[in-house]
Amino acid sequence: MSHTIAFIGLGNMGLPMARNLLAAGHAVRGFDLVAAALEQLAAAGGQIAASVADAVAGADVVITMLPASKHVEQCYLPAGGILDTAAPGTLLVDCSTIAPDSARRVAEQAAERGFDMIDAPVSGGTAGARDGKLTFMVGGDAAALERARPLLEIMGRAVFHAGGHGAGQAVKVCNNMLLGIQMIGTCEAIRLGIANGLDPKVVSEVMRQSSGHNWVLDVYNPCPGVMEGVPASRDYGGGFGVDLMLKDLGLAEQSALASQASTPMGALARNLFDLHSKNGAGGLDFSSIFRMLGRQDPS
Ligand code: NAD
Repeated sequence: MSHTIAFIGLGNMGLPMARNLLAAGHAVRGFDLVAAALEQLAAAGGQIAASVADAVAGADVVITMLPASKHVEQCYLPAGGILDTAAPGTLLVDCSTIAPDSARRVAEQAAERGFDMIDAPVSGGTAGARDGKLTFMVGGDAAALERARPLLEIMGRAVFHAGGHGAGQAVKVCNNMLLGIQMIGTCEAIRLGIANGLDPKVVSEVMRQSSGHNWVLDVYNPCPGVMEGVPASRDYGGGFGVDLMLKDLGLAEQSALASQASTPMGALARNLFDLHSKNGAGGLDFSSIFRMLGRQDPS
């Protein structure tokens, strides 16, 4: 069945996800605040919308891929927003990583207006988005998930139902706290190897095939020159921004405080990414924390 999909937020993740939906034969009406993103969607066969409401007009599915809670609430909740303008029966899918509370707030208001809505944050990075190999972590009703599943399976290769509204976000926060910790630990280990005269390619490959093995070593090496096609190989451009990782580690800390869970490594990771951002790296890919852990100029 072919859908008309309003896709709001065509950034590093949204644009490749929308491209995959187009390639699978669906119509995509896209909206983003950045004109260049709209042009890229049009080049892939999508329709450019002039606003959120314009994108939603005539769509039977809405997918949002926005930076943070405030952007999602601004797109869904106010007069003229998605809940106000979507046709009855439209399926709403938010793939952004946001606070579980915010996801529940939006979903409750969507339910009051009769819409099926799921939170469906993703993992897999920009390469996963490009290759249609994302992992979706879904919160919401099973029936709404089943409506969305054929579209999620175009954009991803694994779909998990985590529980009710907000549960997808709650899982995503756990995953990204681990990813942030893992990235810093991997940078430290490679840096230690370099400081001891080792070739970073050798250290990385040995750890990749040993007990230090992890996703960062597999597909996202942070050391320039070790792996092609990753942000480290293009001066840390594109990818997953430091400020987005900082947001996710903040969500993990809020979640830990609210549930009285102990997350000392997550708190340390949040502080290190915070310093990195304050040093001017907020817009770089998060693997650029490799730079911060390098030998400092003593002058
Ligand atoms: P991004 O900053 O590249 O893209 C976000 C896009 O949303 C931008 O193009 C921005 O212009 C647009 N936008 C903001 N407000 C808008 C509005 N009101 N209307 C329309 N468009 C608006 O971010 P991204 O890397 O694509 O990440 C999107 C979400 O996915 C974030 O929540 C992030 O945490 C999550 N995520 C990112 C990655 C990754 O590797 N980049 C991986 C998994 C999850």
